[in-house]
Amino acid sequence: MIAIEDVLIADDIVEKKFVCNLNACKGACCWEGDYGAPVMPEEVKILDQYIDIIKEGLSEESKKVIDNWDWKDKFAKEQWDGAALHPDGSCVFLVKNEIGISMCGIEKAYNEGKIDYKKPLSCHLYPIRVNRNPELGFEAWNYDTWDICSAACSLGEELKVPVYKFLKEAIIRAKGEEFYEQLAAAAEHHLSKDQ
Ligand code: SF4
Repeated sequence: MIAIEDVLIADDIVEKKFVCNLNACKGACCWEGDYGAPVMPEEVKILDQYIDIIKEGLSEESKKVIDNWDWKDKFAKEQWDGAALHPDGSCVFLVKNEIGISMCGIEKAYNEGKIDYKKPLSCHLYPIRVNRNPELGFEAWNYDTWDICSAACSLGEELKVPVYKFLKEAIIRAKGEEFYEQLAAAAEHHLSKDQ
């Protein structure tokens, strides 16, 4: 376990290797799983602000689900349970690119320069899963293993890229540059103990 500021970081995040291999998985995390992507309270407000722009790039089915989605009510009652799903379990923001790879419709709008919010931090940080404990004032970051990502583990091994380096942009987004630099230094120290 590595501790940086208020975050406890599992050893796997510096020891395991990971690089998403979209040619192999086709973006399966956008349609597999039982729950929608966790979204933080501040992100609900951003989604609310940009939802009409995001919807422009989505399918008619997605637009209908979003229009009937009681997310603001749920959020107000603190029953927020993540992004809505289609009946088949796929994320309501899922879009496919020209070669059939699933990607995030929020990120599509971001890449097209229409909004300044990339996607939910929980998706950006995957395979890191964050458990927040506001009462005790800390977060636990764990490495999530999912069989649909096995090709990412193989590619990460091949390229020798640990999880935290693959997620540099997302970690800096979550915690800032200084945090990432501290994590990188702690990771080097941690890995040198095993040699
Ligand atoms: S997180 Fe897993 S399923 Fe999603 S794009 Fe990466 S390797 Fe594919």
